[in-house]
Amino acid sequence: MKENCTHELFDRYVMPTYGRFPITLERGEGCRVWDDEGKEYLDFGAGIAVCSLGHCHPRVADALATQARTLVHTSNLYYNRAQGLLAERLVKAAGAPGKVFFANSGAEANEGLYKLARKYGNEAAAPTPRHNTGEAIDYPPSRHEILTFDGSFHGRTLAGIAATGQEKVRKGFDPLTPGFRQVPFNDAPALLAAIRPGTTAILLETIQGEIGVRPATSSFLKTVRSICDDHGLLLMVDEIQCGLGRTGDWTAWKTLVGDEILPDAISWAKGIGSGFPLGAFWVRDRAITLKAGGEISLANLLGPGSHGSTFGGTPLASAVGNTVLAVVEEENLLANAREAGDYAKEALKAIGSPLIKDVRGIGLMIGVELAEDYAQKSGHCAAGAVPSLALIGRLHERGLLSVPSGTHAVRWLPPLNVSREEIDKAVGILRDALS
Ligand code: PLP
Repeated sequence: MKENCTHELFDRYVMPTYGRFPITLERGEGCRVWDDEGKEYLDFGAGIAVCSLGHCHPRVADALATQARTLVHTSNLYYNRAQGLLAERLVKAAGAPGKVFFANSGAEANEGLYKLARKYGNEAAAPTPRHNTGEAIDYPPSRHEILTFDGSFHGRTLAGIAATGQEKVRKGFDPLTPGFRQVPFNDAPALLAAIRPGTTAILLETIQGEIGVRPATSSFLKTVRSICDDHGLLLMVDEIQCGLGRTGDWTAWKTLVGDEILPDAISWAKGIGSGFPLGAFWVRDRAITLKAGGEISLANLLGPGSHGSTFGGTPLASAVGNTVLAVVEEENLLANAREAGDYAKEALKAIGSPLIKDVRGIGLMIGVELAEDYAQKSGHCAAGAVPSLALIGRLHERGLLSVPSGTHAVRWLPPLNVSREEIDKAVGILRDALS
């Protein structure tokens, strides 16, 4: 009854932009949530990789309450210490000197990257290709094209959907924001062939999350870095879903490539606030030569008046971010993400179901890819139904929340402090749902 009432409110008053599951959540604690009828679920979606410390972590709740009684908001016309301290933490997380800008969401953090790339393309001196063929390159006055990848997801703003390499996200929103082009993922020759004189940056998800959890290969990332160096392009990585601990390091880049070479910019959101809305991007401190003459650090290229946000980095958001990152550190959750992730993957592989084609991912970003003929083989997926959604419905019945990833994969993105017992229980539920 209660649930129907909530659904009715949504039907009448909330825009129907989401396909929602018929569950109304009311309460959470750690890795568990309860619906309005008191049914308990293990939450292996964690709000799509958001609740990095689980639900209602006492330290996060205390930080929120204390800061709410001290100072919730100041505009960015003033300094606030919590923002400075969070920026310091994020620069350390990035692994090299640089500076951070604060936003409120992932799409907004990526908007900052697009602006950084355009400013760089418009104001930096044209590059001298490292492997000069001797042929003069006719650079346009405005280099502003950003190359992104098929299958990527970068958010729902107008520029975000133009950056995103998925047709379904853009459908109906023509004309697309110009200046974005997609190339095949993990395909260095295709990327190299796609670069034009007007290209200024490459943006990639270190692990693509929305089409079945697809990590970039380490050799691809190294090649992309060297292509960017050769052609004077910025290398920007979207770690909104995979970053800040999920792979067992502060950056997924580090997990895949190590720390000898680095990207030029990284965007984050989701896990920083463990549920409190917060986004950010880091830009590396690296000297660039300007067309107008002189040098500037890339980290200072977006200077006064060039970018802003009313709510970005408020004392409240920053206090929460500082607490979340401190807890990840103090409770050794990077190691837990690595070890629990390996444990979960082994347990998932051991299910040995013919309905599972592959189990992949890194740390606690795991994709279970379903067999192509899941609908025919499973006996519980109606003709025309989407296999990932059919399985997720069965998991819900059994008390497990997970996130679909395309039509044939289910994603596990549990909190970074998930326990072995919780993993065992989730694996048992999945095994039962597949049987
Ligand atoms: N980039 C990636 C990789 C994401 O996974 C998401 C969200 O799912 C976004 C960007 C957009 O973030 P937000 O929904 O906070 O705008």
